[in-house]
Amino acid sequence: SHEKKALFIIFGGTGDLAKRKLYPSLFRLFRKGSINKHFAVIGTARREWSDDYFREVVTDSIQSLKPSQQELADFISHFYYQSHNVNDTEEYKILGNLANELDSTYELEGNRLFYLAMAPRFFGTISKHIKSEKIMTEHGFSRLVIEKPFGTDFETAQQLNSEIAAVFNEDQIFRIDHYLGKEMIQNISAVRFGNNIFESLWNHRYIDNVQITLAEDLGVEERGGYYDQSGALKDMVQNHILQVVALLAMEPPTLFSEEAIRTEKITALKAIRVYNDQEVKENFVRGQYVAGKTADTNYKEEPGVDENSQTETFVAGKLMIDNFRWAGVPFYIRTGKRLSEKGTRINIVFKSTPINVFREADTSHKDLPDNILTIYIQPTEGFSLTLNGKEVGDGFNIDPVKLNYRHSQENLDNSPEAYEKLLLDCLKGDATNFTHWDEVANSWKIVDTVRETWDKETTDIPTYPAGSMGPHCAFDLLEKDNRQWVWEP
Ligand code: NAD
Repeated sequence: SHEKKALFIIFGGTGDLAKRKLYPSLFRLFRKGSINKHFAVIGTARREWSDDYFREVVTDSIQSLKPSQQELADFISHFYYQSHNVNDTEEYKILGNLANELDSTYELEGNRLFYLAMAPRFFGTISKHIKSEKIMTEHGFSRLVIEKPFGTDFETAQQLNSEIAAVFNEDQIFRIDHYLGKEMIQNISAVRFGNNIFESLWNHRYIDNVQITLAEDLGVEERGGYYDQSGALKDMVQNHILQVVALLAMEPPTLFSEEAIRTEKITALKAIRVYNDQEVKENFVRGQYVAGKTADTNYKEEPGVDENSQTETFVAGKLMIDNFRWAGVPFYIRTGKRLSEKGTRINIVFKSTPINVFREADTSHKDLPDNILTIYIQPTEGFSLTLNGKEVGDGFNIDPVKLNYRHSQENLDNSPEAYEKLLLDCLKGDATNFTHWDEVANSWKIVDTVRETWDKETTDIPTYPAGSMGPHCAFDLLEKDNRQWVWEP
């Protein structure tokens, strides 16, 4: 059987993440049989809840998956609640006893997954107590699953890491970046390493530039308080965008295995040029949204946001990767809130042919249109490739055609959700789609230099109207290189 045996201890079991993502994902795994008879879940948080009340909350959280009566009854019978203040040593003893009891009731063989769905400031103390109160087991596995944000800069990340590393080995730590659980992010490797027509062109000789856009149409919503302390650079670039860059830029792994991929990703991240102040100013731009077509509030007026906030809701940058493969090829990145549409896309823009032999015959183009490979991550998933053909008719006009493939909605509806995939990976002990400490550390170093330069600026942050694709400076960034953002529906 493919059933995995484990006890899930969810710290922050009454929180938003637990309700919106973890319980539904556990239910999906239950439905597929990945967890079945031999599992139990302990939810812990400060509130005093009974098991019954907890089970009602879990029931509500999985309603949209339409469980049958029987399924529901089976599933929630595995859920237990323990109120718990993470700073109280005595309460860890109670938690440990409950864990041991459930381990024997459900024959869990000592397998434990500690999921910290709580603010990172608690990670250190929870880890310490897990060890001192012997909630980790000596047989079976003990794994720690943690959420972003992992620190607020390199120094705080290192501090946080040393606290958890005092208890867990690197191979027991699963740092979630839910982007890495997305189908099309995982597909980047399939496209690259499964197709010689791409991999043999995947370098500075044939690629002109790479563009990564993570566009959101919404504003900060209820997250204003958190977001205003963070901003787009730390919230999106440090983790998701640099992970995508690493997957696109890395050397082919010798085998598609956790260790080989990780090694190559780390090498790629280390090759990204770290800019000095002047270079940051030339290569990174930021912006903050104001009222526009799609919203009538300025960012500064959002709930939880400081009225004088200089926090960026948009960032664009040009990364250079200093190695043989990528010398001279810019990786342009951008992300922002309240942009004209929601969409995550990667565009690989290929170089033109050495000369344009149609320069006299083609009356419609001065230069040949670019060959572009686009990987669509969300909301639609798939890829397209733009090729040049001849326009039907007299003369010799070049007509770019787009070969387009998108996964069908049905296909997507049946595919596992990112958190479900990642939870299953944790159960299997496969950390391919999680971030290693060395990746986190290198990403912070890149981002910290940008932040430090910006923190010294005295001029007001540029703005952009809601419903646009960011401030002017983001377009200028490419124009001064004689390029432009590729962005078509
Ligand atoms: P939340 O505020 O909804 O939940 C926090 C949980 O921690 C609650 O269950 C609360 O009772 C518990 N808690 C707080 N202080 C405690 C204490 N002293 N002792 C015991 N329990 C305590 O937060 P959330 O949105 O679920 O986020 C949890 C973590 O996941 C955060 O680090 C967040 O940044 C991260 N995260 C959340 C999401 C999301 O979609 N919600 C997405 C990505 C990352």
